[in-house]
Amino acid sequence: KLNPAPASTKPPSTLLGPSTIPTPSKSLNDRVGLLRGDITTLAVDAIVNAANRSLLGGGGVDGAIHRAAGRGLLEECRRLNGCPTGSAKITNAYKLPCKKVIHTVGPIYDAGDHDASEKLLVSCYTKSLELAASNYCRTIAFSGISTGVYGYPSWLAAPAALSAIRNFLLENDKAGVIEKVVIITFEKKDVDAYNESLPLFFPPA
Ligand code: ADP
Repeated sequence: KLNPAPASTKPPSTLLGPSTIPTPSKSLNDRVGLLRGDITTLAVDAIVNAANRSLLGGGGVDGAIHRAAGRGLLEECRRLNGCPTGSAKITNAYKLPCKKVIHTVGPIYDAGDHDASEKLLVSCYTKSLELAASNYCRTIAFSGISTGVYGYPSWLAAPAALSAIRNFLLENDKAGVIEKVVIITFEKKDVDAYNESLPLFFPPA
């Protein structure tokens, strides 16, 4: 059986608005990249952590980031009083090779209300990019958000992420702070989802 779409699921193309295939742009495409590997090894300005609302660490990528950063990160996170779903907070990076960590809280995927989940996931990407820009982070790397234990299907999460990134670069980053957005995937399902969606949102120029 092929992945059946939940009843309320929109195809990725509707995330693009009325004109389905965006105009190809080399300069825009150059600002987005896909990598496969471990986000804790990246020496970018900011990495984005798929955190939970407590911001006190957890499993998956959150656990990996806290382990690599050391106790200083947990101590700083304790002072933040958590973070609502769909929002983001920034900290220092301690023993990590990056400069800052942006902690965002993705939604637990609700197939019965796909639109609400999608809105929150898009908000995670937009708020993280806003925080990066306002903190002069020019290079930012995202792990998958909600695509692990939070259950968001990768083939629906990838187009939502790319749509948010595209909109941010075109509409919200007027000052041109963000030079490069890297999406770092860990598992094959995420690699496949991004390879399929990337040319829809960032068509080859
Ligand atoms: P969530 O609770 O938001 O679903 P998870 O950490 O369970 O967060 O998963 C988010 C994504 O992070 C998943 O797609 C998973 O494959 C990926 N991931 C897990 N560890 C790492 C890592 N060290 N680097 C990059 N991505 C990772």
